[in-house]
Amino acid sequence: MKLTCALNFTTMKSISTRMKNQFDIILVLPYPFSDHPSFPEGLLASALRADGFRVGVLDALHWQDPHEFTLLGRPELFFAIVSGPVDSVIMNYTPTLKRRREDLYQTDGNAFFPDSPRTAASRVRPDRCVITLANQIRKAWKDVLIIAGGMETSQRLFAHYDFLRQRIRRSILLDARLDLAVVGMGEIQICAAAQAIADKKNLREFKIPGTAVVRSNRPDGSDYELLPALEEIESDPSLLLSAYKKQTRADALGRGVLQRNNDRWIVCQPRAIYTPKILDGIYNREYKRSQHKNRSISPALAMNLFSITSHRGCMGRCAFCAVCRQQGGNVISRSPESIIREVEHMSRHPRWRGVISDVGGATAEMYGMDAHVRDFRPPYLGLLRMVRRHPLVRKVFVASGVRHDLMLKFPELLEEIMLHHSGRFLRVAPEHIHDDVLKYMGKPRFSLFREFCSLFGDINRRLKRRVELAAYVIVGHPGEEAKHVKDMAPMLRNLGVDQIDAQIFTPAPGLLSTALLVSGTDDQGTAIPVCRDPRELDRRKNSLYT
Ligand code: SF4
Repeated sequence: MKLTCALNFTTMKSISTRMKNQFDIILVLPYPFSDHPSFPEGLLASALRADGFRVGVLDALHWQDPHEFTLLGRPELFFAIVSGPVDSVIMNYTPTLKRRREDLYQTDGNAFFPDSPRTAASRVRPDRCVITLANQIRKAWKDVLIIAGGMETSQRLFAHYDFLRQRIRRSILLDARLDLAVVGMGEIQICAAAQAIADKKNLREFKIPGTAVVRSNRPDGSDYELLPALEEIESDPSLLLSAYKKQTRADALGRGVLQRNNDRWIVCQPRAIYTPKILDGIYNREYKRSQHKNRSISPALAMNLFSITSHRGCMGRCAFCAVCRQQGGNVISRSPESIIREVEHMSRHPRWRGVISDVGGATAEMYGMDAHVRDFRPPYLGLLRMVRRHPLVRKVFVASGVRHDLMLKFPELLEEIMLHHSGRFLRVAPEHIHDDVLKYMGKPRFSLFREFCSLFGDINRRLKRRVELAAYVIVGHPGEEAKHVKDMAPMLRNLGVDQIDAQIFTPAPGLLSTALLVSGTDDQGTAIPVCRDPRELDRRKNSLYT
């Protein structure tokens, strides 16, 4: 049994002797809690505490037993399910639907409870964890309020394709019977929800930006983008394409989104607005950068122990990536002062040895390219110089991805990353070599990658230490045929790529690429090649390594 309290890692015994209702909000997680600013649970607990709420945590608990959800008593305000940065089906299954044994967010990376059979029921993270955890909470507490957030909630907010069952599912708000869904990054939203509930406001009527509720009637006003209804998508799944486009337009225009699911309405308010100042406030708080003191830490925490998030959001809008939907399509950057302050906080950690594993975001070099900034010279270069010259710092790595097309515009930045901030490899993501596929991925044309390889080679020849080039590629993306993969490995090697990291496209819920796969057409209704045969997908991937 695993149990923590976000405030002070309280032990089981002391909890059992306390009064019930000692917490305003209890966070429920399908993996161990990390008090770290790279993890949503750490950020949310810290934000709520800063607003004066008492926060308890039930993490990695034996979810099969409803009694486990009673261990901290009943929260004064609500349970908050934090599903984490990855959808549980994506974490639990490979793209060809084989069960994964590892889960980077669990203790020692083990997806199963210790000494348990390797079955779905023994997973620490259940499939579709938000629904399972919400159901178990309701078995333990009949009429308690439940809020959920995280990637799974955001991606499954509206009618979506579930690749485990290979069918359209209705909104997670209905399946999990949630009182409120937090969409996107959630610190502002969860604090606003906590305050609204404490003030006895009606959540269904109280319009908190970046949240969604179920209503029995369509709300008044024209401030909403109307998506195709669930039943329409069920009978014509190609409408997922139009639903995706409408959500993107709503995001760009700052509008809410509506969708009818049978006799209910899913009502999502416009995205919550985060600013550099708000991010500074969030990250300026001190985090312990630890899990429970008696546990070994998860691989995810070990990798990120001394990493720094410099910004949120990405302008890339790649069709297979959920970052834009979760963090926004505009970049929001922290101030350099706030980042240096975090370095100083980190330096007090017992494991600190002066090495920062990453300074970045979804794509590192987008730091400072906020929507209101017109000068597109990269402030990221200045940030890296400032951090690596700090007296407490010995070495700074850049582990976040870098966009090869942007690096072409900033060769000085590329050279400094190669010289000072890369390990053995510099990792870039051309994703494919054929423009016929790249256009459906929303990625730059392949000629830009050729140019990048040439620039990379020129710089490498000047450096004393040779940096190797690793390329991420995706096979099986909609638009691809078997012939498109045949020449991929030789082509990349000819360009000087030393290592190919290939993955098979995973049709995660809520993505444009998933809508393309399900509909088998582009957004103009023209048929495109799609591959769903697991053996053929494996064959394409394996062909890159033979
Ligand atoms: S550039 Fe990277 S982070 Fe940004 S949308 Fe594309 S894949 Fe996602």
